[in-house]
Amino acid sequence: MAPWVTMSVHDPAPLHPRPRRGFATEQVHAGAEPHVPGGANPRVTPIHLTAGFVFDDFDQAHDRFTGGDDGFSYTRLGNPTNSALERRIAALEGGSHAILVGSGQAAVASAVLGLASAGDHLVSASSIYEGSRSLFTENLGRLGIGTDFVLDANDPLAWELAIRPNTKALFVESIPNPKNDLVDIALVAEVAHRHGIPLIVDNTFATPYLLRPIEHGADIVVHSASKFLAGHGSVLGGVIVSGDSFDWSVTAADGSARFPHLDSPVASLGGQSLAAVHGPAAFLAFTRDVVVARFGPTPSPLNAFLILQGIETLSLRVDRQSASALQVARWLEQQPEVASVDHAGLESSPSRALAARYLPRGQGSVFAFTVHGGTAAARTLIDSAELFTRMTHLGDVRSLILHPASTTHAGRTPEQRAEGGIWDGLIRLSIGVEDAADLIADLEQALAAVRAAGHLTEAPADEAVAEVVVERAEAAGIQA
Ligand SMILES: *Cc1c(COP(=O)(O)O)cnc(C)c1O
Repeated sequence: MAPWVTMSVHDPAPLHPRPRRGFATEQVHAGAEPHVPGGANPRVTPIHLTAGFVFDDFDQAHDRFTGGDDGFSYTRLGNPTNSALERRIAALEGGSHAILVGSGQAAVASAVLGLASAGDHLVSASSIYEGSRSLFTENLGRLGIGTDFVLDANDPLAWELAIRPNTKALFVESIPNPKNDLVDIALVAEVAHRHGIPLIVDNTFATPYLLRPIEHGADIVVHSASKFLAGHGSVLGGVIVSGDSFDWSVTAADGSARFPHLDSPVASLGGQSLAAVHGPAAFLAFTRDVVVARFGPTPSPLNAFLILQGIETLSLRVDRQSASALQVARWLEQQPEVASVDHAGLESSPSRALAARYLPRGQGSVFAFTVHGGTAAARTLIDSAELFTRMTHLGDVRSLILHPASTTHAGRTPEQRAEGGIWDGLIRLSIGVEDAADLIADLEQALAAVRAAGHLTEAPADEAVAEVVVERAEAAGIQA
């Protein structure tokens, strides 16, 4: 038997039970390779940096290709380092299986391609990561998969009205970027399941330490592992996690199979369907064997190793980053130069009730605030930052600062930006593990630079912001 008996590409049977131990325990132990009696048994999962794996003999080669032996054959189809990380993330998310891919974008793309084909349809919340939005509209759109966007993700009627007979998934982010306008996952899952449709949740901003979407009804969870899971900002990675309760043999309203690729006879399965053989794991089996194995977004085992190293301290980092972010957000809210702060942990947040229900451990560490004085003030503030790094990334141990209107959201029209609350003075922060006092001191000197440059007297470009500005300026006793 191969020393690394792991989830086969042919038979994704659950290897790791749902976690029974605490999160901090699981983040260092879950999915570790089995002890091999008499083996060398390294304590840390090794980096299996190899394209392929030796077949002992003629028959083993045949068995590995046809499912009779679940050992490894070629790294695009599976690798022991990558598998260890897949098992760990599945355990932390409370899912049954996971697939590791090369980036978060690959995870979103592969998950959707595991469900939908030309002529199909998705419904997504509109406040999602810009890369995912463009993937849906520009890439999947060209493949004949249409997407409709729901402006208020917490309005069940908006989802109902957007769902069509050919809708194959609903898509949301647990903590949307950059406004922190939380999504009621259970509410969206309920609408999805009423129509026999799975809910995909991008849980990148929350991490499984703060929120486990599967426990609230999500069927598929995706991550950019490049962010908090890795944490050190040195590699990219993505992961697709599947829950174990969705019935893939569900029929559409007209009685036809909603997921014909999962629910029709497969010759190599003796004429049975993937849903009949794999049950709730059918989606993951198809996505692994057919989508990911062929499109090939394979991560390097070196990257998987580095993400494993990062995950071992996930809860420690996220605890500290969340606490510091709330401290920074509270401080910003008191500053007269600041018009508003979008952090779900603040008493002023419209998402406060959802935060209490979904994010009791902390509300994450990526949030935005809007400075008076529009683009000019934002430019001065960002260029004055000394400790914060100007960079488009998040979940890093270092604190980062970005101006969404001129970067991530530059491709959208001013009307679209206004619709999403991406004001010209809006600045996104990702709080790292530095001392909060140093971060506040850096923002303090940057706000002083904004004040000195005289931007505060300039009229805000946006009327909606103007109202907030006037209200808050009056409250703070500033002459507008
Ligand atoms: C970064 C990010 C992605 C894309 O991940 P990459 O690893 O950069 O490809 C997707 N979703 C969210 C919410 C992200 O923050």
